Amino acid sequence: MRHEIPNTFGIETYADQYIEYHSPEELIASTEQFRKDGCVTPFLHIGSGSNLLFTRDFHGMVLHSLIASTQIIASNSSSLTVKVGAGCIWDDFVSYCVENHLYGAENLSMIPGEVGAAAVQNIGAYGEEVKNIIHSVETIDIFTGQKHTFDNGQCQYAYRDSIFKCRDHKRYIITYVVFSLGTREHYNLEYGALSSLSGVDGQLSLSNVRDAIIQMRSGKLPDPKVIGSAGSFFVNPVISRDMFESLSAKYPDMPHYPSGNESADQVKLSAGWLIEQCGWKGKSLGRAGVYSKQSLVLVNLSGATGQEILTLAQAIIDSVHDKFGITLHPEVNIY
Ligand code: FAD
Ligand code: NAP
Repeated sequence: MRHEIPNTFGIETYADQYIEYHSPEELIASTEQFRKDGCVTPFLHIGSGSNLLFTRDFHGMVLHSLIASTQIIASNSSSLTVKVGAGCIWDDFVSYCVENHLYGAENLSMIPGEVGAAAVQNIGAYGEEVKNIIHSVETIDIFTGQKHTFDNGQCQYAYRDSIFKCRDHKRYIITYVVFSLGTREHYNLEYGALSSLSGVDGQLSLSNVRDAIIQMRSGKLPDPKVIGSAGSFFVNPVISRDMFESLSAKYPDMPHYPSGNESADQVKLSAGWLIEQCGWKGKSLGRAGVYSKQSLVLVNLSGATGQEILTLAQAIIDSVHDKFGITLHPEVNIY
């Protein structure tokens, strides 16, 4: 029976088949027919749908994990290893870490979505990336029904990227993510917006950092329950230093940051700033809009179709390319 697919953009879209499961064993059992049929049925594993844009119904099988357990599996003098179900709400896990004095996840407070998808996307915010606390990722290969564990290195993490985003690795369904969290007091406050916190003498705690981030995010980002969005629609572009030098001669105020990659020859720009310079902030096309407080966020103004959001995204890509010669790429997964 057709089943509506949850997504924070608020796009009405349906799957031919929708399967939820509570354990890896249940996942294996419920996909047995898929394997018997020769693995030809299109499939998509979703989390909370906060990084998805649907432009049509999904004619195939949509899977969703309800594995939400949290289990301590090891500890030593400086860290605790915790195994968390892929279906656990990401921010519930961050809250668990803060309450239990575990360091490393706090900067990633209030990011929507589930733990499994966090490991796919290498979620990041405020100078932190989830790859820094991931020990390993447990999966089921949907083509064979076999378990396969990836250690951190094998996940090939990069800026908002991992091996699980490659087409030929979609077959690996994440069942658990194993995190290694610090037990010794340590904060990452290098990101500009957090620098005022480092000056608050003697008042720093995991709760302070989490609360500050929640406050900043609440003031700047649309609440998906009220305004449909998938957060940042585009990835910040990383360009060569040569290209950056010639652009910054023309636009001396252009914000720029280290790329986060190994190469010093690359520079990261702010996609939001580029979009704003093209005059898109607060503008709309049909029922799709550019959020007034953050141009990187595209919003569903009221009953937009996925195609309308995509049309707006393409118009923005074209404008930014015409003005700066830079091609923006979507961060959101488009189906
Ligand atoms: P979905 O959107 O449902 O899926 C995302 C991808 O993961 C898909 O490719 C899906 O196939 C895959 N996937 C999901 N579960 C599994 C699984 N178990 N096994 C294999 N593949 C799986 N992102 C950031 O990085 N930083 C932010 O600060 C941030 N802020 C946001 C703010 C808002 C208001 C919104 C709406 C989004 C924001 N995002 C941010 C984007 C989004 O929250 C993240 O990408 C999140 O990790 C998506 O989680 P999800 O559970 O909703 O995954
Ligand atoms: P912001 O602080 O206004 O900064 C704008 C952009 O500049 C960000 O995208 C950020 O890149 C980059 N930046 C700023 N200071 C930086 C620094 N010191 N070092 C490296 N890069 C820096 O951004 P914002 O909109 O308020 O968001 C705050 C954080 O939440 C950002 O990290 C952002 O990525 C994250 N966020 C992500 C999403 C999403 O859907 N992916 C949605 C909302 C917020 P980075 O994006 O690489 O950090």
